[in-house]
Amino acid sequence: MTAYLFPLSLPAVPVSGEAALYPVRRVFCVGRNYAGHAREMGSDPTREPPFYFSKSPDCLVPGGGTVAYAPATANLHHEIELVVALGRPVFQVTPDVAAGAVFGHAVGLDMTRRDLQFAARDKGRPWDLGKSFEQSAPITPIIRGSAPILQGAISLEVNGEIRQKGDIADMIWSVPEIIAHLSQYYHLGPGDLIYTGTPEGVGPVLPGDRLLGRVEGLGELAVTIGPAAC
Ligand code: MN
Repeated sequence: MTAYLFPLSLPAVPVSGEAALYPVRRVFCVGRNYAGHAREMGSDPTREPPFYFSKSPDCLVPGGGTVAYAPATANLHHEIELVVALGRPVFQVTPDVAAGAVFGHAVGLDMTRRDLQFAARDKGRPWDLGKSFEQSAPITPIIRGSAPILQGAISLEVNGEIRQKGDIADMIWSVPEIIAHLSQYYHLGPGDLIYTGTPEGVGPVLPGDRLLGRVEGLGELAVTIGPAAC
């Protein structure tokens, strides 16, 4: 048996109604996949190929709950997203074939240190400090279902007030199209999550804020922003 120098737990997300967890290998995220959000970020929404960044699987916060206000930022933003979990290997496939790789879906928050993301973006540097940080990826349990979600309401309330509201049908690139495109670059498969982008209305949160995200058919993701991390 392989020995490790210290214990480390594998990041994993519960699957609704099941005992076994979905172990996570990679977390891919799509940038600017709704026209309204592309515009509010100061870019032109076009059907240029999608682009991606990654979060470390260790960023996941299964089930939501209280997450610390992230360190080293003065502008922590919410981005509510549909997350797709893959269940079959695919490589360089068409959208039709890519659709068959879906294991299920979840509701996720792509928490973002917007000040750090923009500072990196403006210098042409990677977004890691702005996107991939501890507790930056709260996620609900995965709802099993092999049909890709192509439409349905997506929204986020902060302290009971609607901040983000859209429809999955408004995505510039659909779930099968994203999987197909990403599969041109990676051997995708079980253990891969994809955050599929956020509708317009992103904005800052503060300690004490209560976030409630919803995607039709997938339930709710409740997150409270705690005190600053120490
Ligand atoms: Mn995002």
